Order: sequence, then C-alpha cells, then structure tokens
Amino acid sequence: MAKHLVTAPRRPTRAIRVGSVVIGGDAPISVQSMTNTPTRDIPATARQIRLLAEAGADMVRVSCPDMDAAQAMGPLVRESQVPLIADIHFDYRLALAALDRGTQGLRINPGNIGSRQRVLEVVRAARDHGASIRIGVNAGSLEKELLNRYGEPCPQAMVDSALGHIRILEELDFREIKISLKASSVGMTVAAYRLLAKQVDYPLHLGITEAGGLLPGAVKSAIGLGLLLAEGIGDTLRVSLTADPVEEIRVGFEILKALHLRSHGVNIISCPTCSRQEFNVIEVVAQLERQLAHIREPVPLSVIGCIVNGPGEAKETAVGLVGGQGGHLLYRDGRPCGKVNDADIVSRLVAEVEQAAEKMRRDKQENSSS
Ligand code: SF4
Repeated sequence: MAKHLVTAPRRPTRAIRVGSVVIGGDAPISVQSMTNTPTRDIPATARQIRLLAEAGADMVRVSCPDMDAAQAMGPLVRESQVPLIADIHFDYRLALAALDRGTQGLRINPGNIGSRQRVLEVVRAARDHGASIRIGVNAGSLEKELLNRYGEPCPQAMVDSALGHIRILEELDFREIKISLKASSVGMTVAAYRLLAKQVDYPLHLGITEAGGLLPGAVKSAIGLGLLLAEGIGDTLRVSLTADPVEEIRVGFEILKALHLRSHGVNIISCPTCSRQEFNVIEVVAQLERQLAHIREPVPLSVIGCIVNGPGEAKETAVGLVGGQGGHLLYRDGRPCGKVNDADIVSRLVAEVEQAAEKMRRDKQENSSS
C-alpha cells in the first residue's frame, strides 16, 4: 500500500553514540525503556533487560540510586545484548562507578552534582570510556531559581534548565549529549521540545513523563510524541507507562510504525468487528499478537471479519484472511490461495507469516550482498 507520509523532514542533528547505537544524524529513531527491578538484584534486572531487548529495545536505562546498584552495572553490561544507560541523580561517584564498569551512557544533570571539579571528573570518565550523557530535564524537578523566575514550571523554564546544563558540558568541550524535556502535560512537553529544537543541534530524547497506565499513557505519548515526530523532531524515545516496561517498547514502536518512521515486526491490520464477523476476530488477533511477537520483519497481515472490507485489505498485504461462510479465504501476496476453517486460522496464519518473514530476510540478504 502506498505510504502517505505525514512527517516533515527530520531535523538535522549531530550524531552521538550509546555504545553501538547511533542517535541522531541519519540513524533510525531508537526506542528505549527502563528497568523497574531493584538494580542490585542482578539476575532479576538482567532478565528484564533481556526481555526488553527481545521486544526490540535498542538500549535500556537502569537506575543507580546507590553504590550497590552502580557496581551491579558491571555484570549487567556484560550480560546485556543492548547498550545500557545508568540513571544517576546528585552523586557523581555513582556515575564514575557505573562508567568504570562499562556503562555506555549516563543520564545525569551536570548542574545537580555539585562542584565544577565533580562535573569535570564525570566528563573525563565519560570521555575516557566513550560514553554519552543525556541531560534529562523534568518539569517536576526544575531548579528553584527558575521556578522563582517563571513562577511555575513552563516550557521556557524547561529549556533554560536544559541550556544551563548544556553550557556546563560545552565549557568542558563535551558534546556527546542528548537532551530530554519531559512533563506530564502533553502541551508543555511539545512546546518545550519545539523551543529547544530551534536552539541546539543535539539529538533529542522524547518522552511524556508520568503519562499513566497502559491505555492513557499510550494515548498521551502517541499524541505528544506523534506531534513532534511529525514535525521531524526526535531521535530516540521512551514511552513512560505505569505498566510492564515491555509495553513501553511495544507502544514506542507502534508510534514509529504509524508514522512510517520505522518498521518493526508484523503489522496487523484488523477490523473493529461487528455482527457480520464470520469468526472471532478479537480472539484470533490476540493470539496472533502473542504468537508472532518473535518476528522482526515488517510483514503486513490483514485479518478481517467479512467480505465487506476483507478482499480490499487482503490485496494490499503479504498475508490476509477474510471471514466467509463455509470457510474463510486465505490470501498470499494479495491473491486468494485456499480456505481455512475456524480451528486452523491461527496456526495457518502463523505459518504463512513465518514464511513471508523468511522470504523478506532472504531478499534483504541477497540485496545487501549484490
Ligand atoms: Fe464488520 Fe466486516 Fe467491517 Fe469487520 S470488516 S467490522 S466484520 S463489516
């Protein structure tokens, strides 16, 4: 199906790295999340990092509230398939310990860690280890002086806070920086990013903070991040949900997929269902989502309850199923190729999608080697 792009050209930024992942420049917009296990519980945290990586996370952030947690970064980095970012507040020694143990990125606000000497030590260690730093401004924890000046959290106060932290790092000639400006208000967040995007060329990490549970959080994030991404703003993102962090990765990719900014996994097109449905579309799609979660290739799959819209959608997808009386019609590459009964719908569609994914993998390999 033709892609009708709704996004402006990407805002040009410098490219930085978190380990093997490039952020900004021409790099794909990356998706990240954060662990919520106690970091010092290394097996539990390593397991959660693995689950996030399997769900597609490009990198994972880990809180380091104390020295045990900072020291745990060593084994966690060694076990992780993706780069890790240590989230640190106030205590520069935790940043040094995490960097020493191979952590590829820091989230730390240099204005919050005390003397210039301490900032210098962190910057030196980050440079020595090839790590980058995210300045993470949060509307809920703005500096007192800014709150006095502006009276309350507002986009300009958030931007001023970010510029203050940026200045500290630039004075030390450190530019491996990305920036976030998060608020729980969609409007304030969007306005803050728009303002900052005009003033710096650092990559931006997008997020709506404290967005709520899965449904309200996904909706707020889709609107806030969607508005910015459609304007070409944003180089990496984290969807914050009061839910399993794996859901944050899923929602993040869905936002990018909806805007055709990144492909990831099977793209299921399914109808909202009505009394015309010839099979239980909701149940089938729920099972397919679970059983196809391992597929990375962007296979388009349509699952439509009846012939009203089914054939039209099936013609545009690699695999399609259209509900029908006396057997449901299976489509491959837009053409009908057989009938399926109720009991076999899921297993047949999984097999067809796996085949289509395998073909995509082979084609990609052939194209890259030719
Ligand atoms: Fe109803 Fe058919 Fe439309 Fe699905 S495709 S919502 S079953 S009319």
